[in-house]
Formats: sequence, C-alpha cells, structure tokens
Amino acid sequence: MVQECMNPECSRAINIWSLYPNYCSQYCHLFVVKGLSIINGKEKFGTHQLVGFNWMPKIPVDCQWCGKANCTLTYSVGNKNGNSVFCDFKCRNEGWKGKNTRKHYWLLRILKELKRPVVANELARYVESQAGCIVGSARMVGSIMRAYIKRGFVTRIQGWSQNTTYEWTYEGTPAPLCKLIRQVRGTAGQKGNLSLVE
Ligand SMILES: [Zn+2]
Ligand SMILES: [Zn+2]
Repeated sequence: MVQECMNPECSRAINIWSLYPNYCSQYCHLFVVKGLSIINGKEKFGTHQLVGFNWMPKIPVDCQWCGKANCTLTYSVGNKNGNSVFCDFKCRNEGWKGKNTRKHYWLLRILKELKRPVVANELARYVESQAGCIVGSARMVGSIMRAYIKRGFVTRIQGWSQNTTYEWTYEGTPAPLCKLIRQVRGTAGQKGNLSLVE
C-alpha cells in the first residue's frame, strides 16, 4: 500500500526513503510544521482574473554553506532527489569543495533528519536513494563517520559485522552542514581537488 503525504495540500506518494516520516519531502514537512497555507490568488491580488489560481508558497531555508536564510524551497522541486540548497554558485562551489564531500553531507544530513539510530547498510541505501551517490560499504560509512564521532556529532553503537549503528546525538545547533564538514576535515578534505581552490 502506498502511503500518501500528510500535507493536506499534497497527494504525492511517500517514498520509503523519505527523510521526513509521513511527508513526501522537506517542503511538505516544513509546510505543515510552519502552519503555512496555499496562496489564494484572488485574496492576494484582489483581481477576479485570479479566482481559482492558487499556489504553494515558497519556503525560505538556510544555505548549507553560509547559513543565510535567503534560499527558497519550492513545492515543485521540493521532493527531487539530492535536493540541497545554496544561495548561489559561490556557496555551492564552496559547499561541495573537497573529496567525497557529498557523501559526508548526505550521511550527516540523513542522520540529523531521521533523528534515530540507523544501521550502516541502511544509511548507505539512504544516501544512494537521496543523492544517487554510492557509499558502498559499512566500512566506508564507518571511516567517514569517525571524525564526527570524535567531535561528538554522531554516536556509534557497535554491532557485529555490518550492524554497526549510528545516531546524530549532537544537541546544539551545528554550523550549516557543508561548513561543519569543512571545519571537521580542515583542508585535508580538499586533496585531489586543488584546482578548485582560489
Ligand atoms: Zn507532499
Ligand atoms: Zn550561502
């Protein structure tokens, strides 16, 4: 049975790998959490031509590099895989700089959004489904997670073989994820990508 999105204005099916239980997308999750409603064209502009023309509002979200809330999420792109938001090209370039940054980003983001312990293999499947990048093995998840565990963002619950489980346990407000990744990795993460450094 296909579960439908809980946003009353949406009837999309929920992908089993959605990061937002009961919602098809971050957009719909925020739409409900923020108590938003559809923009009514007639009310907003008072013109009869716009009767029946209603649209989903844009939702401001923080840039994943600089943290400024001047990015917008729209309903139409809100459930695309790999959806990530940056202010502009410059922030996007900075944000993704460094080897395997996307993998780091998605592993952390998934844990942070799901707010529950996730087994390494399941985590790898999530990354694949959300971002289309292959993390491969539980061992690779482990090696990426090491630095974040050391700094207290993630906790590892050791299981046998591939059952090692990870959970986002940091209670403060972290830097935007791409910036956090840079802080944790320093410039080491930029090896192999030096051509991008100004
Ligand atoms: Zn939805
Ligand atoms: Zn930015």
